[in-house]
Amino acid sequence: MLYFSFFHLLVEDVFTISELKPELCFIMQGDYVWLDLKTGREFDVPVGAVVKLCDSGQIQVLDDEGREHWISPQNATNIKPMHPTSIHGVEDMIRLGDLNEAGILRNLLIRYNEHVIYTYTGSILVAVNPYQLLPIYTPDQIRLYTNKKIGELPPHIFAIADNCYFNMQRNNKDQCCIISGESGAGKTESTKLILQFLAAISGQHSWIEQQVLEATPILEAFGNAKTIRNDNSSRFGKYIDIHFNKRGAIEGAKIEQYLLEKSRVCRQASDERNYHVFYCMLKGMAPEMKAKLGLGLATDYSYLTMGNCTACDGRDDLRDYSSILSAMKVLMFTETESWEISKLLAAILHMGNLRFEGTINCTRAGCFCIVEPKDVMVCLTTRTLITRGESVATPLSVEQGLDVRDAFVKGIYGRLFVWIVDKINAAIFRPPSCESNLVRRSIGLLDIFGFENFIVNSFEQLCINFANENLQQFFVRHVFKLEQEEYNLEDISWQHIEFTDNQDALDMIANKPMNIISLIDEESKFPKGTDATMLYKLNSQHKLNSNYIRPKNSYETQFGIQHFAGVVHYETRGFLEKNRDSLHTDIIQLVHSSKNKFIKQIFQADVAMGVETRKRSPTLSSQFKRSLEMLMRTLSVCQPFFVRCIKPNELKKPLLFDRALCVRQLRYSGMMETIRIRRAGYPIRYTFAEFVERYRVLMPGIKPAHIQEDLRGTCRQIVLARLGKYDDWQIGKTKIFLKDHHDMQLEIERDKA
Ligand code: ATP
Ligand code: MG
Repeated sequence: MLYFSFFHLLVEDVFTISELKPELCFIMQGDYVWLDLKTGREFDVPVGAVVKLCDSGQIQVLDDEGREHWISPQNATNIKPMHPTSIHGVEDMIRLGDLNEAGILRNLLIRYNEHVIYTYTGSILVAVNPYQLLPIYTPDQIRLYTNKKIGELPPHIFAIADNCYFNMQRNNKDQCCIISGESGAGKTESTKLILQFLAAISGQHSWIEQQVLEATPILEAFGNAKTIRNDNSSRFGKYIDIHFNKRGAIEGAKIEQYLLEKSRVCRQASDERNYHVFYCMLKGMAPEMKAKLGLGLATDYSYLTMGNCTACDGRDDLRDYSSILSAMKVLMFTETESWEISKLLAAILHMGNLRFEGTINCTRAGCFCIVEPKDVMVCLTTRTLITRGESVATPLSVEQGLDVRDAFVKGIYGRLFVWIVDKINAAIFRPPSCESNLVRRSIGLLDIFGFENFIVNSFEQLCINFANENLQQFFVRHVFKLEQEEYNLEDISWQHIEFTDNQDALDMIANKPMNIISLIDEESKFPKGTDATMLYKLNSQHKLNSNYIRPKNSYETQFGIQHFAGVVHYETRGFLEKNRDSLHTDIIQLVHSSKNKFIKQIFQADVAMGVETRKRSPTLSSQFKRSLEMLMRTLSVCQPFFVRCIKPNELKKPLLFDRALCVRQLRYSGMMETIRIRRAGYPIRYTFAEFVERYRVLMPGIKPAHIQEDLRGTCRQIVLARLGKYDDWQIGKTKIFLKDHHDMQLEIERDKA
């Protein structure tokens, strides 16, 4: 046996062996410890390990990754005893004695290795993507989880759905579920599972239920694509609000979409695809219809082959095409509308294949089902400028012509997507009648891109991270409020608990006068504005703000923002163009002159603005800001649930747990904030019965909890004797509240007893 001391380190997070007092504590074979390898890498945290051997001044441990280490007291490697709650894992991580990143990570890991992918952290459900089908989503499981309290059964996404539903009924209050995580983490799958549960529990097998469910394959066909991170990556955010009547049956829904990635229609990175619908159409459409549209194989189209990848393992484009068509029927798309959509998709593909041989050759008549080839030709080779009331046509270079084409195609696809969502809403949204408005309740599901920090971040990342700052604020306030409520309920006196509020960052991005978004917007509207002038204004306005990171040199084109989840540097090139998101008048004119009613319809708003006196269309950031404000208003009147999806590895493989990747996500998820808030107060809580049962061994003669009359008094007796009168613990109405170190102290004494 080798003696180490842990005792005075119980309250410390990090310590070294050199600090240990050998006489006080000991390590034995079979003990569990934390091993801090001190690699200094950003996302490394101590790893769990079990002691294999204690021998001649050295101990041998085997860590959770299966690696062996020899540790000698002299070399000051960091080692720390593991709290008993961490050894086999817990269902609610708030109960972990080692309530820190290492503790959480290990807890998730040991459960994941046993195919247990769901774990709570207080009111948050953590879901680790299993990358394999688990037998836990059957109708039996749905029945099992119906009308149960959280915690009554093992953590599950169905438990969240069930609680949303019954809370809505019981409290007559709208509910929402915020599902976040990075690309591939499982947000969309979680959303679908909640929908599945709600449809089952609503139980009408009604037309409207089916319509709500069938919206998903359509949205995924047009808004999802294969990326390197996820074979079915949602390239837009969405909020689905499901409406229930007073009997608790689904009576409608409404879908809100955010920021579709339009650039994908024209360009895909290596090993990525365009939106699924294109490949499905080319695989599944009947040959005679394809012939009418002049369509061939996916490999024939430059817009579908930029990523050198037209097929996707595990996806069946042929089968998906028939699901898309049948879903469209369920959602009341007419035959004509489906055909018009196909025509637009075909036109996009043909346009992508335009050859530019000195001049643009677009005479292939079949290719333009929607606009006249000669008009397109004019549009792609010249630009009309109005000077002093006269219009002058100036020639465009081939490169400029291609840019105009791509802008047109993105314009078409973006508007088509909006039209499709509107069409779906027209089928599933029933405006509340006066009477049903009083009793109608809803559950909203938010499936939205998590915090992003890539090697190069652009305007899209700024919007996404801005959304995440808002959600983080919402989340932290909620957790804080819950904590406050629990203390009040238990009549516990507590000082003000500090929490990191991201209000300052939010103010700088979007609230205060001259905020970042408004400066970008202003510069986008300013005729002479460029990305460089915008950056200059950002720098001069915010240089003193501690959340703003100025470029070091005048030639740099990046600025940084200190977000709640870390610093992100944004590359400003292309910012204004992306934000303006406007089409040249010539294109609007082209659409205006088209004989195709459908394209005119999807461009209705643009055409309505008029060509000559076209008002500036709203910028992307102002639209996004507005829809985000609306979303936050909606969420603020709901009772929220949070689901944090974690992607365990980058390889889409089952049973592979990449520690650093997971730590990064835990940090970005804001979950650590819950823990910080909790730890600032009294993180350890036991009901009186639990406490007495666990610690009566420390006081000889105390009877088991179930035959005790004064449980509260007995608790007080134990803590007074063991922790002393002056220590910072409290006894509430039903629970005892302790600090971390109390728990550790009691546990050690319990082990010795
Ligand atoms: P993105 O932000 O790219 O849209 P996402 O978070 O929505 O990503 P999903 O599409 O939900 O990610 O999940 C990615 C893939 O992971 C799924 O296609 C599926 O293969 C797998 N997956 C996710 N959750 C589960 C689950 N609960 N069971 C089995 N497989 C899952
Ligand atoms: Mg998704």
